[in-house]
Amino acid sequence: MPCAICGSTRRGLVTKWGDVVCDGHSHFEFCHWCLRPVGTGHGFCRMCSKSTRRGRSFDDLRQRTLEWCTRTIGDHSLSTVPVFLVSEPALNSLVYGMTQWQTDGFFVQSNVSLFDGLPEVSLMSTLVHEYAHIVLFCDPLDFTFSPLGDELSKEECEGFCELMAYQFLGEEMGSEGARVQRRLLENGNLTYSDGLKMMLRRWSTTKDLPRLISDLTGRPIRRPDSSGRKSRPPVAMPVIPKDTIVKIGNTRVPIDWRDGWTREPLPKTPSPVTREPIDWRHT
Ligand SMILES: [Zn+2]
Ligand SMILES: [Zn+2]
Ligand SMILES: [Zn+2]
Repeated sequence: MPCAICGSTRRGLVTKWGDVVCDGHSHFEFCHWCLRPVGTGHGFCRMCSKSTRRGRSFDDLRQRTLEWCTRTIGDHSLSTVPVFLVSEPALNSLVYGMTQWQTDGFFVQSNVSLFDGLPEVSLMSTLVHEYAHIVLFCDPLDFTFSPLGDELSKEECEGFCELMAYQFLGEEMGSEGARVQRRLLENGNLTYSDGLKMMLRRWSTTKDLPRLISDLTGRPIRRPDSSGRKSRPPVAMPVIPKDTIVKIGNTRVPIDWRDGWTREPLPKTPSPVTREPIDWRHT
């Protein structure tokens, strides 16, 4: 197998993730998105740089994630959630995905921001992760608030979102998806990787994602429809003004207005390699 960094077929080492690094590199690091070896100072490997949106429009990629969600969790209105592609400085270089939300206690309004420079596969799986946050906060069909979903621990919450991303990668993204799946499991940020492993254990007892969503949010189980019925038209994202007042009897009371966000920090990558690790095999 040629060297993952320079393509040379010289003798080398095989990393834990099955890639060869030839003897020409005394120092190297790992790609943030797939854990392929890269030369020092490069965030992306050649594959991930090449796969950055391959000229396809973001709408096509988003459509693919929305269709997968329909097949997996049933009807939803996630297509009406605004998604913003933002450049690195706008989002903060250490955050690559974010969901903002606000609620009046009845409905949830939210939007998603994604770092525009992500490789295509990670861009889509990150979008699925952000949609999963919305699935926990509210019923994705009509955006009614789900208080139980809002009370989950950070590990449960991020773990569930990583689980949905993990399943999307496994079902839709082929061998590159399998690589990013491993990357999710090996994230040095344990809220994400331990959360994912916990949710994989919970999911594996029934292999039933709609049931797991119901367990986490207290909502009734909703399943994808296999009857061929035309899916329900999506509901528009509600607008929640901050000063909403509701009338209960003759009393006007301020509603339970809250807002927040979830931000995905850049995955933690294994330390740069500067000498031969003793547990590696030689090619
Ligand atoms: Zn090399
Ligand atoms: Zn990569
Ligand atoms: Zn998250």
